[in-house]
Amino acid sequence: MNILTFDTEEWFNYAQMDGKKGDFLPDVDRVQNELLDKLDEHQIKATFFVLGVVAREYPYVVKNIAARGHDIGCHSDVHKKLWEFDAEQLKKDTQESLDSIEQLTGQKVTEYRAPAFSIGKKNVWALEVLAENGITVDCSIFPGVRDFGGFPEFTSSEPCLITHNGIALKELPISLAAVCGRKLAYSGGGYFRILPYWLVKKLVSEHDYNMIYMHVHDFNGKQKRIISARYFKNYYGNRTSMKKLGRLLTDFDFTNVRNAVESIEWNSCKKIEL
Ligand SMILES: [Zn+2]
Repeated sequence: MNILTFDTEEWFNYAQMDGKKGDFLPDVDRVQNELLDKLDEHQIKATFFVLGVVAREYPYVVKNIAARGHDIGCHSDVHKKLWEFDAEQLKKDTQESLDSIEQLTGQKVTEYRAPAFSIGKKNVWALEVLAENGITVDCSIFPGVRDFGGFPEFTSSEPCLITHNGIALKELPISLAAVCGRKLAYSGGGYFRILPYWLVKKLVSEHDYNMIYMHVHDFNGKQKRIISARYFKNYYGNRTSMKKLGRLLTDFDFTNVRNAVESIEWNSCKKIEL
């Protein structure tokens, strides 16, 4: 099963930009349409995890995603990492985001991905807040170590059922590959841009479950670049990534979170009590 997802956010939604647009080119406004055209070309319906602030600033973009038959999930309200919240603040953030998105699409949003995979061992309680606010499917768990976030203690890289403090969620975690003794997030947008296509293809072929997570900015080769320690990771390959995505969509079939959830035999999946 190959699931294709995009986190729909802007550079300036990231914490280091402090929400300031400055002279950044919007990614969502322009690149999003190119992405939707590419998906249409390959007749693929993906899942877009949208920020509440994106729904408010670009309502036509979110309406367009829904109108073209894609699945919409929630990516929090303003891309604040969840460990910065207490339970009450997370509840408010989640409700604001869900309201902003649902008002545009008229459809209930039940899928969630935390910004920067910011649910880990120390804030498992966040899953409880999400479930209490109508989320039934979570895609926030990155079962390995990363620069930000991650949940290395989590024991599944495949769909599983999570229970915690009386709540239950269907979890579609990020799929990682063991390469040279390290867990590699080959299915993420950054690695997709950096790794040669033959290796991406090999790793996707070798796994029964692939959760692909990309960002709209992975496809914006015209974006202003900021010099930082993450320069290479942030920008490498973003001028050729759309073409590379075309190859991936030609070589593999993809589904979205909604359809994946319907087709998975949840009773035979691993059950994890957190
Ligand atoms: Zn994000």
